[in-house]
Amino acid sequence: MKRALVCGAGGFIGGHLVKKLKREGYWVRGVDIKPHEFVPTQADGFRLLDLRDPQSCRTALTLSDGGSFEEVYQLAADMGGMGFISRAECEVLHNNALINIHMAHTAAEMGIPRYFFSSSVCIYRDMQPDEASVTEDDAVPANPDNEYGWEKLYAERVAMAYGRRYPMQVRVARFENCYGPEGTWTGGREKAPAALCRKVAEAEDSGTIEVWGDGTAIRVFTYVDDLVDGIFALMHSDLDGPVNLGSEERATVGDLVRTVIEASGKRLTVKYVPGPVGVHARNFSKARIASLGWKSKVSLREGIARTYPWIQAQVKVARNSAAHT
Ligand code: NAD
Repeated sequence: MKRALVCGAGGFIGGHLVKKLKREGYWVRGVDIKPHEFVPTQADGFRLLDLRDPQSCRTALTLSDGGSFEEVYQLAADMGGMGFISRAECEVLHNNALINIHMAHTAAEMGIPRYFFSSSVCIYRDMQPDEASVTEDDAVPANPDNEYGWEKLYAERVAMAYGRRYPMQVRVARFENCYGPEGTWTGGREKAPAALCRKVAEAEDSGTIEVWGDGTAIRVFTYVDDLVDGIFALMHSDLDGPVNLGSEERATVGDLVRTVIEASGKRLTVKYVPGPVGVHARNFSKARIASLGWKSKVSLREGIARTYPWIQAQVKVARNSAAHT
C-alpha cells in the first residue's frame, strides 16, 4: 500500500484530497496546524503540527516503521480570499515562505521520491478581458498583483530547485479558483464563490446583497472534485514544471452571482460596491493538463448546485446556535 502525506489536510482542498487518496487505496497521514472545521478527517493518521517549524516538517515526514512516504502533497498555506490576502500581506509572505522552504528542504533531505506543490494562477499578471490565453511559460517576466502570488512564484522555484538537486520528482499545479462544499464560508478568509453563497443564503427573499466590484471581472471557477482528480493525474505524470489546473469554463463575477441566486430560488437585487476585487481577467492555456487526458467535468451551474445547499445548511446551523446562546 502506497503511503502519502497531505500537508494542509485540515483545509478545504487538502480534506478533499485525503478522501481522493483513500478512494485510490492509499494509507494517508494528514497534517495541519488545526483540525478540519467541518468533517472528521478520513486520514489514517492526523498530526497537529506547525509546518513553519523545520522540526515539525521532519516529524510530519517521519514514519514509525522507519520507512518513507512515497508521495507528499504540500497544500498547507496561510491563505484566504482577496479580502484576506490584501490585508495580511506580511503573514502571507512570512508564514507561507517558511512552510514551503522547510517542507521542500526536509522532504528532499529525507529522500521523498515524489513531491507536489500547490501553486496558484495568482502568480500571473493582470490580464484584459479580450486577451488571448497565456501559457505556463508566460508567467515570466512576472508581475503578480498581490504578495500571495509573489510568494507562490518563489515557492514554485524552491520546490523545483530541490527537484533538480535531489532525486525527488516535483510536480507543481497552479490552481484556479477552487470551490465546493466543506471549505471556509465565513470569517473573512472565504473566497468569492463561498462568500456569495453565504450572502445569498443569509438574504431574505426579495432582499439585496452587496458584491465587491462591478461584476465584470472574468474568472475560472473549478469544482473541488475536478481539482483533486487533476492533482492526482499530475502527480502520477511525467510533466515537469508548473501546470495550470482549472476548468475551461470562463465566467464573469456577475455570472457567478446569477448562478448562485438561481441555485437559491430567491429573487434578489445585487448592489455592486467597492472592494478588493483582484485582477480584471484570467485566461490560461490548459493544454499541458489536457495532455494527460484531464478535463473538468463539473460545470459552474452544477458545482454551485452542489455547493449552495451545503453553505445554506451551515448558515442555518450558525443561526440556530446563535439563537440558543
Ligand atoms: P485552506 O485554507 O482551506 O487550507 C490550507 C490549510 O493549511 C489550512 O487548513 C491551514 O490551517 C493550513 N495551514 C496554514 N498554516 C499552517 C502551518 N503553519 N502549519 C500547518 N498547516 C497550516 O485553503 P485551500 O483552499 O484548501 O488551499 C490549499 C492550497 O491550495 C493552498 O496552498 C492554497 O494557496 C492553494 N490554492 C488554493 C486555491 C483555491 O481556490 N482554494 C487557489 C489557488 C491555490
